[in-house]
Amino acid sequence: MGQAFRSHTCGELRASHVGERVMLAGWVHRRRDHGHLTFLDLRDRYGITQVVTNADDATEAHTAAEPVRNEWVVQVEGAVRHRPPGTTNAELATGEIEVAVDAFTVLNASKVPPFYVNEEQPGLDEAVRLKHRYLDLRRPSLQGRILLRARLAGAVRRALEAVDFVEIETPTLIRSTPEGARDFVVPSRLQPGTFYALPQSPQILKQLLMVAGYDRYYQLAHAYRDEDFRADRGPEHTQIDLEMSFVSSEDVMATVEAMVTAVSREVLPERPILTSPFPRVSYDQALARYGSDKPDLRFGMELIDLTDALRGVDFRVFADAIAAGGAVRGLIAPGCADWSRKQLDELTNLALTHGAGGLVHMAVEDDGMLHGPAAKFLDNATQARLLGAAGATAGDLLLLVADANAATGMQALGRLRLDLGDRLGLRDPAVLGYVWVTDFPMYKWDEEGRRWDATHNPFSAPRWDEVDGMEADPGAVRAQQYDLALNGWELGGGSVRIHRRDLLERAMALMGHSPEGMREQFGALLDALEYGAPPHGGIAIGLDRWSALLAGVDNIREVMAFPKTQSGSDLMLAAPSPISQQQLDELSLRIVEPKGGEG
Ligand code: ASP
Repeated sequence: MGQAFRSHTCGELRASHVGERVMLAGWVHRRRDHGHLTFLDLRDRYGITQVVTNADDATEAHTAAEPVRNEWVVQVEGAVRHRPPGTTNAELATGEIEVAVDAFTVLNASKVPPFYVNEEQPGLDEAVRLKHRYLDLRRPSLQGRILLRARLAGAVRRALEAVDFVEIETPTLIRSTPEGARDFVVPSRLQPGTFYALPQSPQILKQLLMVAGYDRYYQLAHAYRDEDFRADRGPEHTQIDLEMSFVSSEDVMATVEAMVTAVSREVLPERPILTSPFPRVSYDQALARYGSDKPDLRFGMELIDLTDALRGVDFRVFADAIAAGGAVRGLIAPGCADWSRKQLDELTNLALTHGAGGLVHMAVEDDGMLHGPAAKFLDNATQARLLGAAGATAGDLLLLVADANAATGMQALGRLRLDLGDRLGLRDPAVLGYVWVTDFPMYKWDEEGRRWDATHNPFSAPRWDEVDGMEADPGAVRAQQYDLALNGWELGGGSVRIHRRDLLERAMALMGHSPEGMREQFGALLDALEYGAPPHGGIAIGLDRWSALLAGVDNIREVMAFPKTQSGSDLMLAAPSPISQQQLDELSLRIVEPKGGEG
């Protein structure tokens, strides 16, 4: 690092440098005064080095260091020497040496920061961190995550380019293209009254790149969705977006799996991949066995269908659900028969918040009989049948959800399963449980809009062998769609696309689009499909989510340099903000009384 301010970084010097003259620059991490000696830990993103000023040997440098406090940025010059015996620090890569300073320059002072940069501060308000994000980003913990993300992005690029993907940028100002979420829009000054939309994804553009013959495209793309925000979703996210020509869904999955595997091994070699090749679960199976279309496969505890075992039972909760065509499903919490009333109440509340009508819990006693408020409704034979079907044994806790809507019951149990997995320590944080979810239904019926809605994106192709039955029974058609899940999070999703205009028009008609509506919204794509569009498919993988999961945090804001709050604010730049009257005039816009929101 031979440069104007420094010869080495703060993470670089070792015993082998002893005797060398060096120049370092960085932030004061910590300061300790020992009379005529001052010890400063100097920090940059590479590490920490101890530097010492001595009032006797280098009076001028020592005096210059006097006013310096934490987070001041300074430059030092001096000789590298061994630390005195007994004062080496094995925790620090540079812990064997220190720099005896003979020239000291303050490059810039710092006010006292609003929070500690040099140590963790549990309970620190996130709003304070976000307002001073540049200081937060200096903290070694967050910096480590941002650097991990950068290594991840670099590894992705290398892995994709090694197999002929080309990076192509697509514009951020595009036309509104419905992809299931609300658009962010930008008014046009030159064409008053018209608007651009920020892409919800580069979906149409990447498909057009396939028509244009680029064969394998990728981009780390920003995508914008004006939705309510959650821990795993913000208004603006980055996706590893890719598209390939002349492929089946198997081809795309194989390519992506190879990339994901190589990147995981390169970036975090110490974290084992649970199963390789990645397991595949159909959408129906994922719901039935895990109550989720993004199952966490790091532990078993699968949902069990107990409807048959409980048919004919004289207990209203079960009987009503079964009579209404629903199901009774359950989970076994192994060894939890002795859970307290309080713990059981917590589980019940959790099931209720996740949509279940209630939770029936029964403990399996040592004599093999069931115990719990509902047990008295089940005669011995039924109890035996239930235990057999569930595979429960003495000491287990059986948790049952009965619901007229089988899907609702499965989802509630799925959430309960994850919660139990946490409580019982079954979700090993080190393990990476990638899994493909396939065979999604192409459409689901939207009662309100009286139309079939694409379950994923409107350009996904139906299975080629199911095209003929599309109109006759849209609900039965499966899409060539695949999702990649990791440890209970949806990491990404993609599909093979429809590459023929006639078929896309049929699909769009089912989704309630009139011929004019289709032309207006998707004209460019429909036209392009008539000029030699090759078969193609792709995927988008959430870079924020992947980074969060690899960094072991449960909130994507912890891996984004400048995230927005849950209500969409940038607290540092104070965005969104009003604009000046002049800007409004230029855009021919007038603000009417804002509806709701924060305005
Ligand atoms: N455009 C889709 C999305 O953003 C991904 C894909 O199908 O490639 O979810």
